[in-house]
Amino acid sequence: MSKTVDIQELRRKLGEISDVHAAIALLQWDQETCMPPKGAEARSFQLATLSALEHRLLTAESLGALLYGLRERTDTLDADDAKLVEVTLHDYERAVKLPEDFVHAFAAEQSKALAVWIEARRTSDFALFQPNLETLVRLSREKADYLGYEASPYDALLEEFERGMTTAELERIFGGLAPRQSALVERIVAAGQPELPWMTGEWDEQAQWAFSLRILSDMGYDFEAGRQDKSIHPFSIYFDTGDVRVTTRIHKDALFSCLMSSIHEGGHALYMQGHADADRRTPLCDGPSLGMHESQSRMWENMIGRSLPFWRCYLPVMRELFPGRFDNIAPEDAYAAVNLVEPSLIRVEADECTYNLHIIIRFELEVALIEGKLEARDIPEAWNAKVKQYLGLDVPDDARGCLQDVHWSHGAFGYFPTYALGNLYAAQLFDAMLEQIPGLWDHVEAGTFAPVLEWLREHVHVHGRRKLAPELIRDITGHDPSPDAYVAYLERKFGELYRLDA
Ligand code: ZN
Repeated sequence: MSKTVDIQELRRKLGEISDVHAAIALLQWDQETCMPPKGAEARSFQLATLSALEHRLLTAESLGALLYGLRERTDTLDADDAKLVEVTLHDYERAVKLPEDFVHAFAAEQSKALAVWIEARRTSDFALFQPNLETLVRLSREKADYLGYEASPYDALLEEFERGMTTAELERIFGGLAPRQSALVERIVAAGQPELPWMTGEWDEQAQWAFSLRILSDMGYDFEAGRQDKSIHPFSIYFDTGDVRVTTRIHKDALFSCLMSSIHEGGHALYMQGHADADRRTPLCDGPSLGMHESQSRMWENMIGRSLPFWRCYLPVMRELFPGRFDNIAPEDAYAAVNLVEPSLIRVEADECTYNLHIIIRFELEVALIEGKLEARDIPEAWNAKVKQYLGLDVPDDARGCLQDVHWSHGAFGYFPTYALGNLYAAQLFDAMLEQIPGLWDHVEAGTFAPVLEWLREHVHVHGRRKLAPELIRDITGHDPSPDAYVAYLERKFGELYRLDA
């Protein structure tokens, strides 16, 4: 067959896989936002059936034959087609390396472990979860063996979430980050907290919702190609560049929770709305890694949404939405309130200054587990020691310690580091943006985000999966992934906020 016919056939097959994937995503979105409780049982069957179908399509021998045939003729393909073949072949080979029996066994253990973890966390009983964790660690090591690796089995697992990154490279990056971030947190704690009596009390839910919609719209989120709903855990989800949805949650007593969730998920969504049209219904239509995706959400949330120019712009809007509540409040007060730093036990509640430390704790423990240097039964003790070391806190119970996150019950080892990488990539990209967009902060203060979005579209969004994350960072910033920009950003911002030089 001619190469044109083969490419057309490849795109047809990939379109089919993408459609099934989007249908799964839509069912998941519905499950989290609208589905009545009695729909849960049928939904789990629907999701299992469609997931199996997707896996079958993705691992079909006919797809492999087509891809290997096209790879032989890569030099006759145009750049986009060649990239499509390369990226799809990577996914295909990773998928077929895992025997079907193993995939089923892993999935069965995951759902068992999830149910046990929920109960273990509720009762703060690690011993209950320990056997499940042991099994998932053993299966994850087997998974790494099937997938293959050079230096560490953790590399093979990491690749699923952060292709192009290795355990050794992460140890180097986090090794440079942890002591500097810990030292900064120590100085902030010693400096004492600002007084913010006006933050207490309840905040109108309708006003919070309206504010979040207003900001999403100002950021450039296209409501003709998306919508916002409420869910218990905020998320963003992609069906097509023409349909990218976000969710948020509203707490009466936490003014910034809804807004910051919306900005965060909006950052993810802008990325997905910005992929190239020609990449629709192909594997190129995605970010290169979770870390790169997280860089987009965290840049909008932290570097823009938690900046002083942002609050100079939006405090008047807050005054209108919450009558009487902000009359004597200055932008500097809102800026201080949204940037409170306080070492705490819970990762998802952590501020910008302490967040990465939570990740480094998990990363070090995961690597030790997967490399066989730590046994599951020793996790609580090791966890508590690291929390003391990095955050200076005593862990009162496992529910607020090693049982707090859902990830290990999914067997998702290698996922956590992507959150911290997102922070680091965001700072590196933001520095490049500051250099390249004249008067960037004036635009933010005017609530004009088009220059930011256009820059991100051009440098990050349209490339999809064409480059791996480290390569993209190097091309845009001229530097390898590094903690330097993030540490400098934190020291500048929080040094000023907490008057650390005074
Ligand atoms: Zn995120």
